Amino acid sequence: MGWLIGFALPQRQECANVLHVRRAWRARIAAEVPEQQPGLGEDERRRVIEDRLREQAAVEATVFVRRREEALEREAWRAAARAAAEAQAVVERERAVAAESARQCLPCEDCGQARAAGLCEACGYRRETQALIEQAGLVAAAPSADPRDEGDVAAEVRASVEGEIARSRGVPADGGPGRPAWPPSRSRGETALAYGALQTVQQAASEYHRRALAMLGRTQEAEAEARRVYATEQNRWWFRANPTGTDCGPGGGHGDGSLTEDTTT
Ligand SMILES: [Zn+2]
Ligand SMILES: [Zn+2]
Repeated sequence: MGWLIGFALPQRQECANVLHVRRAWRARIAAEVPEQQPGLGEDERRRVIEDRLREQAAVEATVFVRRREEALEREAWRAAARAAAEAQAVVERERAVAAESARQCLPCEDCGQARAAGLCEACGYRRETQALIEQAGLVAAAPSADPRDEGDVAAEVRASVEGEIARSRGVPADGGPGRPAWPPSRSRGETALAYGALQTVQQAASEYHRRALAMLGRTQEAEAEARRVYATEQNRWWFRANPTGTDCGPGGGHGDGSLTEDTTT
């Protein structure tokens, strides 16, 4: 029945509507049978045509079923892929939730407070405060030419800033009688205290910064002034040594001997 497959799968697909396709091959079979077997009687011809139509219908049904199965397979494959992706996403979400909740459960590295996600808020402020105090020490020591001063300046800055923090709380730097020294031990208002300390240090740090810049500015001005004076002096020497000088500048070919009073006049 190879010739029937040719009918069922027409090369020239004019229309996808199954009723129109069926009408088309019915018409072709009805026309072809008398052409291929012209000697048949009326009844015989009708019987042959009906046989072929039944075979063609069977082929069409087979093709239809095969296509349907293929479509179902594709759909099943897509559904399986979707399900696998969804399952993977669920696993990943669960993993992320577990990791986040494990992280949340970590105690504070600094004070040991439970379920602090590794670092409690108060200790976070304290770390920032300490970092800023150190930075302020470096900033304050920056204008100093002597690197040995750095440690002293940093220690002074630390003492001063910690004093300021204590004053801002209305307690002496050593904590005072019955009061915790800074940094305070854990208490209910600890986070607020730590935050207040950070704010105090931020203000102090910006003041150290401003002062350091002002000092550096003054130093630079003084250096620029010294350079101006030196240049003026050099020019004066040069002019005295070479009143008509055209051949070279200061430090040029004359060496130091030429800087005596002019001998050419
Ligand atoms: Zn059609
Ligand atoms: Zn902590």
